Amino acid sequence: MTRLVTSISELRAVCHDARSRGKVVGVVPTMGSLHEGHRSLMRAARADCDVVVVTVFVNPMQFGPNEDLDRYPRDLDGDVEACAAEHVDVVFAPSVDEMYPRGPSATVVHVAGLTDRLCGASRPGHFDGVTTIVAKLFGIVGRSRAYFGRKDAQQLAVVARMTADLDLPVDVIGCPIVREDDGLALSSRNAYLSAEHRAVAPTLHRALGQARAAFESGEREADTLVAMVHSAIATRPEFEVDYVECVDATSLEPLNVIEAPALLAVAARLGSTRLIDNVDLSPTS
Ligand code: AMP
Repeated sequence: MTRLVTSISELRAVCHDARSRGKVVGVVPTMGSLHEGHRSLMRAARADCDVVVVTVFVNPMQFGPNEDLDRYPRDLDGDVEACAAEHVDVVFAPSVDEMYPRGPSATVVHVAGLTDRLCGASRPGHFDGVTTIVAKLFGIVGRSRAYFGRKDAQQLAVVARMTADLDLPVDVIGCPIVREDDGLALSSRNAYLSAEHRAVAPTLHRALGQARAAFESGEREADTLVAMVHSAIATRPEFEVDYVECVDATSLEPLNVIEAPALLAVAARLGSTRLIDNVDLSPTS
């Protein structure tokens, strides 16, 4: 039976009680509108942990003033159903008042450096919102394993760095990107795409795939790979590119030559919908 919890004190008690019985707690933080990408994280948590908690919270603090907070898709009944189908023990779906009872948080967790680039450059304050809510969540849940998708590779790197820097008792685990058959990375925001934009959206994945193929054939110059992605996306004038960058996978520092695990990442708009995608480039693979 999947239990719906809306209060912080109840979630804290459930996790504390589980650990006192020797159980391992797994947590999957989400903003709801759950799809196969989220469900793959639930399955990873279910395979590793005794008690699985999925959090569903559209966190206002991580949305900019002109972003899609109000129209972000919400479907708690569907989310609870999806969690039940994945044998999740607890869905934590707090209200905004429950998470921010004193109004906007006076305390902000900021990870310096890693949040300046990529999505951080065009979404100022976004990652402060993410790290503040995730730090709160880790404080409530306590010792646990937390599952994040590589789809949001910068978010994963930032959360991993915060957790290490603050010695939080959480193992942060990255999970593979889940895609549609045509390569488009699953995202709750794909629901915003018009039929025309949905048809061109997989171009992002194809562009990254071409660069990855060049990398696998020996290309190690970051600029060359970035240029390949730009020119593949430019075949579709519908896209407005935000960035294409090749960065170190852990520090997110820009690279000239790829000698260690790297991330080739893209963000682009189709109409008002912002899509992100990335591929890992590992010189040893
Ligand atoms: P969101 O609800 O968009 O905040 O995402 C919650 C978690 O699900 C994050 O860790 C995301 O990286 C992960 N996620 C979202 N889409 C995918 C996907 N297509 N594949 C794997 N993980 C995903």
